[in-house]
Amino acid sequence: MSERAAIDALFPADLPEPEHWERRYPARELPEGAKVTRFGPSPTGFVHIGGVYVSTIDRDVSTHSGGVYFVRVEDTDQSREVEGALDQFTRAFDYFDLHPDESDADGAYGPYHQSQREQVYLTYVRQLLREGKAYLCFATKDELADISAKQQATKLPTGYYGKWAIWRDADPGAVAAKLAEGVPYVVRFRVPDDGAPRVRFTDAIRGDLEAEANRNDAVILKSSDTSPRLPTYHFAHAVDDHLMRVNLVVRGEEWISSVPLHQQLFAALDFEPITYAHIAPLMKQIPGGKRKLSKRKDPEAGVDFYIEAGYPARAILYYLRGLANGRLAEVPLDEALATPISLDQCGVAGPLVDLVKLEDISADHIATLTSEQVLDAVRAWSQLYDKDLVTVLDDARDLALRAIAVEREGVENPRKDLRKWSDFRAAYGFFFPTVFTPLTGPTDDRVTPLGVTPDVIRAFATDLADGYHHADDQPEWFNQVRDLATKHGFAPSPKDFKKNPDAYPGSIREASQLVRVALTGSTRSPDLHAISQALGVDEVLRRLRALAGA
Ligand code: GLU
Repeated sequence: MSERAAIDALFPADLPEPEHWERRYPARELPEGAKVTRFGPSPTGFVHIGGVYVSTIDRDVSTHSGGVYFVRVEDTDQSREVEGALDQFTRAFDYFDLHPDESDADGAYGPYHQSQREQVYLTYVRQLLREGKAYLCFATKDELADISAKQQATKLPTGYYGKWAIWRDADPGAVAAKLAEGVPYVVRFRVPDDGAPRVRFTDAIRGDLEAEANRNDAVILKSSDTSPRLPTYHFAHAVDDHLMRVNLVVRGEEWISSVPLHQQLFAALDFEPITYAHIAPLMKQIPGGKRKLSKRKDPEAGVDFYIEAGYPARAILYYLRGLANGRLAEVPLDEALATPISLDQCGVAGPLVDLVKLEDISADHIATLTSEQVLDAVRAWSQLYDKDLVTVLDDARDLALRAIAVEREGVENPRKDLRKWSDFRAAYGFFFPTVFTPLTGPTDDRVTPLGVTPDVIRAFATDLADGYHHADDQPEWFNQVRDLATKHGFAPSPKDFKKNPDAYPGSIREASQLVRVALTGSTRSPDLHAISQALGVDEVLRRLRALAGA
């Protein structure tokens, strides 16, 4: 059998030739300068916030250049695949409204899952084998471990190269014998002998770079005893980026050291070289320095952390854009979201993710929303994370809108008491009769810290409820509290009370705090008059009487 026939015998007889795929995935007709980008998540764990960061940049660069953006699921490592990871991707992309232009359902360059592109990769593996640019390797795990151990012992770079690459120039007879025995093999790339020792490339973010050439005969197709037979990331991305006509690869900095190998693969495959933009990783401040935000150590590394807490997507996107291009952190949210991200303004040092900053941004953003927008967002969040709250909101929509409007609508500086949707219950729950637990009487734990005796509380609260005037006017409403406080012997000012504490049950401050605790359960709240108006007269009376113990 000829060498070519021997190679072809390893592949399905009807495996197409490269021209077939070139025709199937033609060059795209796009305007000059249009960028075709892709995000290549591997479903091997939860979605990292850095993934949203990178895909935002992908999406942005393609949109603003009139190009195309798609998601290619890089699932060639099926042993590491995590159940549910793909759903999580979908949820994350939906949340952030990062929609691809192409997908399996609607896209001419699919399938967009690498595990479904086996045939495509096999065509090109066969091609490299036929051209002598790749070879079969039967080295066992033990042999490979032995090679590494010897290299380490003599302080040589580890890898499969030079004299260590035991199958690189194997005798065809030895290969045929192994095949005849049915020994599994991988396919390795044959690093060209005549390459320069150092290589240069231009990164769209980092500019001109130089690195040592790759010497390692990397595996391009995994073991022949696996099914489906899938390539490694290095090979798959080269074939896919070429055939899917990607012209800008935005990816994590951890891949920068693979560029020399990737350049060799593109050259061997006769593909146009591609432009890479390597994004610096998101970092976390730790005592004495910073480190990469870690999937294992930091809950805030996961996208679900933000979604479950209910940070508004736009606030997060705004924050991430500011990390990508510092100048975008200096302009208002709407403007920042509409301004293109520039790759050449992305830093080469990883930016710090600062949750306090994000919370401030988020609170500022929420403060710009209307009550309706806040309610809709809280409701949407609750549908996933707090079902009981949905019922509460639906049963009392008008009350909810009135509650959210307190010190938000018609004021110059709206309240910033919501940093994320999960804050709603703590900040606004007391408005809702079905959430709020009225006081049990003048000795309720929530009111005793004010230091007013139960008898005075009971008398004051009973009087207030009996003569309660639900006035529209704030000063008028408050005057009734003040008058009753005087009647029940409270000092007119905290100063008077302090001077002569035995002469009074408290001051006007304690008297209004009694009302505040009665209406809200807490000593801190928005304006009491506004709260009373939102609650309505019946509920105010119910809560005052509860304080009285009636
Ligand atoms: N699947 C690779 C990863 O998850 C993507 C790298 C790339 O975008 O080329 O890191």
